[in-house]
Amino acid sequence: MLITNVITPSSSGAVVAVRVEDETVVAVGPGLVAGAGEWVIDGDGGLLTESLVETHAHLDKAYLAELIPNPTGDLMGAIAAMIANRHVMTVENTIERAERAVRTMVRNGVTTIRTHADVTQENGLTSVEALLEVRRRTAAIVDLQIVALLGWPLTGSRGEVHRQLGREAVGMGVDIIGGCPHLDDDVLMANADLVDLAGELEVPLDLHADEHTDGERTSLVDLAERVMTSGFSHGVTASHCVSLGMQHVDDQRATAEKLAEARVGVVALPQTNLFLQGRDTQSAMPRGLTAVKHLRDAGVLVAAGSDNLQDPFNPVGRGDPLDAAGLMVLAAHLLPADALASVTSVARAVVGVPAAGPLVGAHADLMVTPVSGVREMLATCAPRSLVVRRGRVVHGRGRG
Ligand SMILES: [Zn+2]
Repeated sequence: MLITNVITPSSSGAVVAVRVEDETVVAVGPGLVAGAGEWVIDGDGGLLTESLVETHAHLDKAYLAELIPNPTGDLMGAIAAMIANRHVMTVENTIERAERAVRTMVRNGVTTIRTHADVTQENGLTSVEALLEVRRRTAAIVDLQIVALLGWPLTGSRGEVHRQLGREAVGMGVDIIGGCPHLDDDVLMANADLVDLAGELEVPLDLHADEHTDGERTSLVDLAERVMTSGFSHGVTASHCVSLGMQHVDDQRATAEKLAEARVGVVALPQTNLFLQGRDTQSAMPRGLTAVKHLRDAGVLVAAGSDNLQDPFNPVGRGDPLDAAGLMVLAAHLLPADALASVTSVARAVVGVPAAGPLVGAHADLMVTPVSGVREMLATCAPRSLVVRRGRVVHGRGRG
C-alpha cells in the first residue's frame, strides 16, 4: 500500500509518500512510485501521523449520562449514582454502548484502547463478559486492552472477594489488574495487595491513584518503592495522580524521581478531572491535574486519556483523544507536539505497544487529517480522512 500526497510532522511541509508492507512502514519520502499492482491511496495533502491511543476508557459506562444522572457532579456522586443504578447496566446494553464507543473512537483515529471494566461484588464479572464480547466483535479494527477495575475494599478479609474476582477476570481473558487504593481504608495496604495480586497473575497493573485534591494524601512514593522492592516487572501505570498536583513543588519533584526510578507511567485525565474535581473550592479552583511538568522533567512518561464518555463521571466527550491533547495544551501547558505525543508515542509506550508512525521500520498504525500541521490538528480536531491499523485501512477511503 502506498499513501501518497501527504505531509508529516517532520517533513517541513514537503509532500511525501509512505509505503506500507504487511504491518510495517517500509519507506517514507518524496518521489516514491507505485509498483505494479500496489494499492495507492491519495492523502489529498493532509497530515499523516501515527494513529491515536485511548489510554484510559470506561467503555462499560459509555453513554450512561441520560440513564444515570450525577446530581452532585463530583467523584463520589458519580460512584453513588452507579451503585444505586447498577441494575440499569445489562450485559446486552453494555455490549451495545461499548461497541458504539469503540467504533466512534476508531473513526477518530484510535487503534489502541485501554479500557477499565468494573469488577465489584455487586456486578461481578458482567462488565468483563460484555467487554470481552466487544473485543471479539471489534478485533479487526482495534487493539482492546481490558483492565479489571476491582471494587473496594481491596484489603483484609473483606477485600478477598474482590481479589478473587480479579483472578477470575484474568482467567477469562482480562489483560491487566486495576483498582482504586485511595478509596480503601488502608491505601498503602491496597497498593501492596494490588502489586502482589498482579505479580501472582503475571499481568501489568493500572491504578486509579490518588484521585482527589487533598495534597496531604498521596500514595505514589509508596507505590514506586513497593514496585522496586518487590521486583514487579510487568509494567505499572498510575492514572489520575490528582493530589500530586496539589503538593509543594519540592514534594512533586521528589515523587517524580521515585516514579521515574520505578518506571511507573502516569496517565493524566484532564477532561474528567476538570469536571469532577475542585468543586469545594470556588476561589483558585484546582484543575484536578497531576504535576505534569515535574513528572516530565524527571523522565516519567506522562500520557493523556479521556477517562469517561458521556456518563455520570463526565457528561461530555466525543471519543476523540485529540480533545484530551488539546486540554494538555490549555490546562497542562504542553506544546502542541508534546500534547499530541501524550496521546500517540508516549501513550503507546505507557500501554506497552510498539512504536508507530511515518518512520521506516515503525508499526503501520497511521492516520491522515486534513490539516497543515499539528497545532491546527489540535485546534480543529478535523475529521480523520484515513485510519490505518496494522497496515489495514479501518476507516476512510479504500476501506475493505
Ligand atoms: Zn478511570
